[in-house]
Amino acid sequence: MQSLRHAFCLVRPSPNLMRQRKLHFYGMTETHRMIQETCRDFAEKELKPIAADIDQTEIYPKEQIKKLADLGIFSMMTPTEYGGTGSDTLSYALALEEISRGCASTGVIMSVHNSLYISGVLKFGTEEQKRKWVTPFSTGDRLGCFALTEPGVGSDAGGLSTSARVNGDSIVLNGTKAWITNVAEAEATLVFATNDRSKKHRGLSAYLVPIPTAGLDRPKKERKLGIRASSTGPIIFEDVVIPEENLLGKQGEGFKIAMTLLDGGRIGIAAQAVGIGQAALDTAVEYSAKRECFNQPIHKLQAIQLKIADMEMRLNAARLLIYQACFMRDSGLRFSKEVSQAKVMASEAATFCAHQAIQILGGMGFSCEMPAERHYRDARITELYAGTSEIQRLIIAGHVLKEHGVL
Ligand SMILES: Cc1cc2nc3c(=O)[nH]c(=O)nc-3n(C[C@H](O)[C@H](O)[C@H](O)COP(=O)(O)OP(=O)(O)OC[C@H]3O[C@@H](n4cnc5c(N)ncnc54)[C@H](O)[C@@H]3O)c2cc1C
Repeated sequence: MQSLRHAFCLVRPSPNLMRQRKLHFYGMTETHRMIQETCRDFAEKELKPIAADIDQTEIYPKEQIKKLADLGIFSMMTPTEYGGTGSDTLSYALALEEISRGCASTGVIMSVHNSLYISGVLKFGTEEQKRKWVTPFSTGDRLGCFALTEPGVGSDAGGLSTSARVNGDSIVLNGTKAWITNVAEAEATLVFATNDRSKKHRGLSAYLVPIPTAGLDRPKKERKLGIRASSTGPIIFEDVVIPEENLLGKQGEGFKIAMTLLDGGRIGIAAQAVGIGQAALDTAVEYSAKRECFNQPIHKLQAIQLKIADMEMRLNAARLLIYQACFMRDSGLRFSKEVSQAKVMASEAATFCAHQAIQILGGMGFSCEMPAERHYRDARITELYAGTSEIQRLIIAGHVLKEHGVL
């Protein structure tokens, strides 16, 4: 017994070490804290004050995006030789949560550009492609987008109908993409098309296309329930001719590229969801301290406290899954199952928190004067894009069944 106590004394960390441990929780360093605080401060001062307005007007937050880009936020996971800050995935997720806490639209603009466009060229591009398609996009003056979905094909990405025909040393693209984030501002798109539809997902390839380009049209912006300041819409390709060097990766690798990028993209969307959920919790707590019912502030009512506890628990559970996925990605491990879990937990935590926040605000939760209704609308998309919750659950189940040797 004594020796056990002795052993415990030996391993018990000093308060100083405890502080360090806290900082190094899930690999979180002083740098991570600094990025988190910088983004929190930026969101509080620059994004929160405009979020309601740009939601109503559906106007792209150009000035704020430029300031974020100057902070290096639009090239976070890009190595310094291509103009980025070379941050790790955890830094990126922490930043994205804070940005989305201030404005969910800004969060998705950043997420698609970084995780689905830039990361694609960095992971699968040649040196020449990285210089051409990443470096000029690291400043935030130029945005990229990711065009996988079509009017007839979403979850079943192997069934794409946009065609890529080889014509000498050129590729000719024809077809329509739908629901493309950053559609109005993007100056390049990573587009997925089929070389042979009968081969299904094995027939897909990925191409880099500059915008504008002859034959490429962006006819409209969709009117949306939430994230209204980020543009979303179709891209039509009508005999768009690009040089064969714009092929990303190899012919037939498109499906693998899309799925790899979507894994990374899910970290971004999960972080966005937690940011929205946290904003809803912030709103609810603030309101509960001011609103009085039966001669006391409502935060003293247990019914309200139980809701606050449930919101906090779900958000933190989702955060831990996100940090796990970040850690695995940065360690070069496969993180497909873990990121799908993070995305489902985070998006469902966000919609739960937004729902509860409205309940805590009562009638004022339903008013456009308060941010709770916007959080409610913004949260909803996180259960849909970058793969719906149903698809995430199929991915998770697939992994579990394989691990058990059943599949
Ligand atoms: C605002 C917004 C922004 C977007 N941004 C982009 C973007 O930048 N780039 C891009 O390429 N796409 C983008 N998307 C598209 C998005 O990723 C798709 O909407 C999403 O993947 C779902 O596809 P779908 O809408 O075609 O739904 P469908 O695939 O038609 O699914 C309809 C329903 O059926 C369910 N379902 C489908 N298959 C199964 C199955 N096997 N088992 C159980 N349930 C199933 C789905 O979960 C869903 O509930 C965006 C969408 C929106 C709304």
